[in-house]
Amino acid sequence: MAYDIDMIKKVYSQMAERVNTAREVVGKPLTLSEKILYSHLWDGNAKEAFTRGKDYVEFSPDRIACQDATAQMALLQFMQAGKKQVAVPTTVHCDHLIQAKMGAAIDLQSANKSSSEVFDFLESVSNKYGIGFWKPGAGIIHQVVLENYAFPGGMMIGTDSHTVNAGGLGMVAIGVGGADAVDVMAGMPWELKFPKLIGVKLTGKLSGWTSSKDVILKVAGILTVKGGTGAIIEYFGEGARNLSCTGKGTICNMGAEVGATTSTFGYDDSMERYLRATNRADVADAANEVREHLTGDDEVYANPEQYFDELIEINLDELKPHLNGPFTPDLATPISEMSAKAKEHDWPINVDWGLIGSCTNSSYEDLTRAASIAKQAVDKKVKAKSDFGINPGSEQIRYTAERDGLLKIFEDLDATIFTNACGPCIGQWDRSDRKGEEKNTIVHSFNRNFSKRADGNPNTHAFVGSPEMVAAIAISGRLDFDPTRDKLMNEDGEEVMLDEPQGIELPTKGFAVEDAGYIAPNEDGSTVEVKVAEDSERLQLLTPFEPWDGKNLTGAKLLIKAWGKCTTDHISMAGPWLRYRGHLDNISNNCLIGAVNAFNKKTNFVKSQITGEYDGVPAVQREYKAKGIPTVVVGDHNYGEGSSREHAAMEPRHLGVKVVLVKSFARIHETNLKKQGMLGLTFANENDYDLIQEDDTFNFIDLESFAPDKPLTIEIVHADGSKDTIKANHTYNAPQIEWYKHGSALNLIKKQNAA
Ligand code: SF4
Repeated sequence: MAYDIDMIKKVYSQMAERVNTAREVVGKPLTLSEKILYSHLWDGNAKEAFTRGKDYVEFSPDRIACQDATAQMALLQFMQAGKKQVAVPTTVHCDHLIQAKMGAAIDLQSANKSSSEVFDFLESVSNKYGIGFWKPGAGIIHQVVLENYAFPGGMMIGTDSHTVNAGGLGMVAIGVGGADAVDVMAGMPWELKFPKLIGVKLTGKLSGWTSSKDVILKVAGILTVKGGTGAIIEYFGEGARNLSCTGKGTICNMGAEVGATTSTFGYDDSMERYLRATNRADVADAANEVREHLTGDDEVYANPEQYFDELIEINLDELKPHLNGPFTPDLATPISEMSAKAKEHDWPINVDWGLIGSCTNSSYEDLTRAASIAKQAVDKKVKAKSDFGINPGSEQIRYTAERDGLLKIFEDLDATIFTNACGPCIGQWDRSDRKGEEKNTIVHSFNRNFSKRADGNPNTHAFVGSPEMVAAIAISGRLDFDPTRDKLMNEDGEEVMLDEPQGIELPTKGFAVEDAGYIAPNEDGSTVEVKVAEDSERLQLLTPFEPWDGKNLTGAKLLIKAWGKCTTDHISMAGPWLRYRGHLDNISNNCLIGAVNAFNKKTNFVKSQITGEYDGVPAVQREYKAKGIPTVVVGDHNYGEGSSREHAAMEPRHLGVKVVLVKSFARIHETNLKKQGMLGLTFANENDYDLIQEDDTFNFIDLESFAPDKPLTIEIVHADGSKDTIKANHTYNAPQIEWYKHGSALNLIKKQNAA
């Protein structure tokens, strides 16, 4: 599982010079976030000051982590790059594809059966290309990264939105789409809009029932689910130093719930303690040598209003425990107000389940604090009224918690210990007690609580709280239970109260594990065979896209003129389709099925110009492809907004669409189209969108002289023979035109590698 100490030392050896240069170039003291960003520029030392929220900047991340669901297409693409090894240290974690039902032993066995081909594929690709592989049951990606790989001052990307969890160890860690991860694996820079900065000044110290989770529940209430968009949240102050490292991880983890690019904390004693406790004394020693560069400048924290774009102050002495929800993580309610609020909104008071764990809250401190509550219930003869489920974040934490008797305490309350995996947090929960339409309530210590997220049931009201509060509420069985005030009736008919939780930051006997679940790659992977069955419905090796023939594109037919919002979800739907995310041809059967046809306002109902009949978009497009007829997709404003899902660009490309012509693009999707060798164009005059008719044919007059900054001319031939000639703009620079010529960015990389 070796973390790369040489890589970390290299980052630190460059840090002083890079930070000092950046400070000169920027002309003022630096926040921690700026220090990490400027010391990871692709081009080395800073040469210019970047404008926050505006400039696109190329970075050089230190690490990549991928989870099993998103890794499939990322690795299939990487295999196209013709590389022998990944260019930066990378790990793959099998955690999303394991369903929680009966408990760890049985559930893991059944996942290993139902998803064996995916796990085998990921393991063999990892083995071949020098990628560390964490097998099913080893743990949840972000907990494993925090325990093994995160390091102060580092930059990492991961193909999962909660990659941000590693901010708890002082990283700038950002969730990205597979295409971005592939670029970095293949040795290319990674591009990001230079983020804005939100400062959160923490004063005071947590006490009683209040925990680190309540800090982010409070922040979520302040910022709301969109308030952090495009920004890094940087926590600082005496209150930050008073938090444990894993508590900081919890706070950073849920930064994703306010839309933040990432969150981070400066290096401090809590991080040093955590590094040493997780057998990384050499990382702690190395970090200590550059300590001053691993936190923001003193002047920044003394006058934060001058250096952050937005500032929030929270006094931990006054912070109260919260529950956030239902259906959104930013609906923050102090426990003391829940009774009134639940009545007002008619939320079901009885709680069916209390779930503890996930990547957000399964640290040793979390489990000890929750167990201290569970133990009181046993000792005071209070029977838990709700069911308990625990999903530990890693095998290391599970093994240690079992050794120290923590799991036994939960089992005494009849808790089900699920696999060390995502389980109920991502809807991988076969919940047997409620399937119907009756409203019901669950509480959990996870991060997200959108409708249907945990059990697929829109009637389930999920509330997010700290593990100890989840334990208390599950024992009471009531959403409006306030343990600071309310009593419980025990089996002897006596009224008892729960004392405040007691936690232990790090195990006094140290962490332990027998088999952490890590499989190191072969030193030389050249002979490793990648396993994909010919008849697999979930996996398909990719075939390189055809290069451009250098000619003008003529006779292209309109596939669909999309009307209004067309997000990546409309272009490539999620839900049950996720099963096919490693099989490009099968998942292409969802291509554009959510887009609204401008001519009939229906979804997935377009006219075939071959037959004159209406059918689903993928079916019509497959007809065109079979006859070798190129097609064009026309769209409205901000086409492709939503996510960085590369499938939304790969599917139309795979099915034979040649051009996407829109009023405007979401930038990431536009780049993804370029990377896949598509022509992504915008109307020079956006009213020309109205000229497009259902039976149109497109002739690209001057594509042969495709060049940067030169608009293209398109002749549109209508069914009645009349014509319109319009201009289309593009943003391809010279290297991107090379991607287009070669059929995709990966085709070009492969050629360069072969040269
Ligand atoms: Fe995502 Fe939940 Fe898994 Fe964490 S535990 S990685 S939030 S699905």
